[in-house]
Amino acid sequence: LLEFEHVDKYFGDTHVLKDVSLDIANGEVCVVVGPSGSGKSTLLRCANRLEEIQAGEIRLDDRSISDPGADINRLRQRIGMVFQSFNLFPHKTALENVTLAPRKVRGVDDDTARERGVDLLAEVGLSDQAASYPSQLSGGQQQRVAIARALAMDPRVMLFDEVTSALDPELVGEVLGVMRSLADDGMTMMVVTHEMGFAREVADRVVLMDEGRIVETGAPTPFFERPDTDRGAQFLSKLF
Ligand code: ATP
Ligand code: MG
Repeated sequence: LLEFEHVDKYFGDTHVLKDVSLDIANGEVCVVVGPSGSGKSTLLRCANRLEEIQAGEIRLDDRSISDPGADINRLRQRIGMVFQSFNLFPHKTALENVTLAPRKVRGVDDDTARERGVDLLAEVGLSDQAASYPSQLSGGQQQRVAIARALAMDPRVMLFDEVTSALDPELVGEVLGVMRSLADDGMTMMVVTHEMGFAREVADRVVLMDEGRIVETGAPTPFFERPDTDRGAQFLSKLF
């Protein structure tokens, strides 16, 4: 569904993605792990065309994302992205944050957008906070609004970049819980996280990046119990 084929990315002279190939299937949850600076965020950002690539191709549903002629606005509607910082609109309520893009970008009428927004807020456990402003919500609640907002565009795939890293520890679980139920509902997801419990329990596949390359990929159980590579073993030994 989301394919990276021999992708190379440079920032100036710095080669940050090196011949990265990865094919994420419909309904798959792919967790990307690796040391700081290994290129995890860059990989996600290339998938959403927030960054350009210098070689290779990225495709969503067999349509090129990386091609210069690609319809970026249309493609972005199909790729939901949630970041570490929630980036909600501060002067809009939770419900307005969720309904804004469908109304403005897609021209969905107010009532329909509202109905769907109410459902999405319920899905992330925030039915009673629809009228709250971001400043009135906890970090975990804001992040759940951000997830609902991304879902409002009915994306084909959801990208998550360390969405729990900025949260107080007691709020991490509620956000991971929402991600887990999305996965259970069959959403295709690419998740950069340090939450190895989540990786172990929810991922269909774990991808280890190091210095811009995918150095190991596998199902979580073998990955965590019997890494194939020295790099994998070394990465795990630092975690546990
Ligand atoms: P972390 O775990 O710290 O978030 P990461 O795996 O997400 O790290 P990236 O943010 O993708 O790593 O960075 C990969 C490399 O690209 C790093 O060497 C980083 O310094 C470099 N880099 C990232 N963004 C830029 C940029 N806008 N300009 C120049 N170099 C960049
Ligand atoms: Mg990062």
